[in-house]
Amino acid sequence: MGKLFIISGASGVGKSTVLKKVMATRPDLQFSVSATTRDPRPEEVDGVHYYFVTNEQFEKMIAEDAFLEYDGHNMKWYGTPAKQVEEKLEQGHVILDIEPVGAFNVRAKRSDAILIFIEPPSWEELERRLRSRGDTSDEQIAMRLERAKWETEQKSKYDYVVVNDQVEACADQILHIIAQADMK
Ligand code: 5GP
Repeated sequence: MGKLFIISGASGVGKSTVLKKVMATRPDLQFSVSATTRDPRPEEVDGVHYYFVTNEQFEKMIAEDAFLEYDGHNMKWYGTPAKQVEEKLEQGHVILDIEPVGAFNVRAKRSDAILIFIEPPSWEELERRLRSRGDTSDEQIAMRLERAKWETEQKSKYDYVVVNDQVEACADQILHIIAQADMK
């Protein structure tokens, strides 16, 4: 059985870039693909980044108790398919990229989950990164910054906090945490 790693961090903190590096170094790590009702971004592939589903499909999955956890975020649903996580854990370590509410809900069910929080180097840098994405209005950026503040207040409940100042260094710290867990 592998271990379950949960990575959280505000929108724009660079989680997916860091995770890409981590997973390129450790191809044995498996990414848990969440279901969401939000629209795909241009570079996103169904079944790779998310399962993009309708509200009806999501509600059906809730009714079938198919989620390890699920939560509403930015007016959309996000959920971790339970069966997929169980099957992947049989093959090795699994990484979930989910926000704090989901992270704590998973930990309530699986106390052995390892929670890692990624922090931005500064609020100014987070705002700059959000703006450079180009897919967010001023109003959405303000909402995301508010949410980021709340998420960052949760960091003391995580097992590890890493700062994404340099992608390479941040990925290295996460790889180190995983390597330490390997030895336990
Ligand atoms: P985005 O829309 O930018 O891909 O993700 C928005 C937020 O939803 C991120 O903080 C991400 O970690 C979180 N998220 C992604 N998948 C899940 C999930 O399955 N469950 C929960 N609770 N949060 C998720």
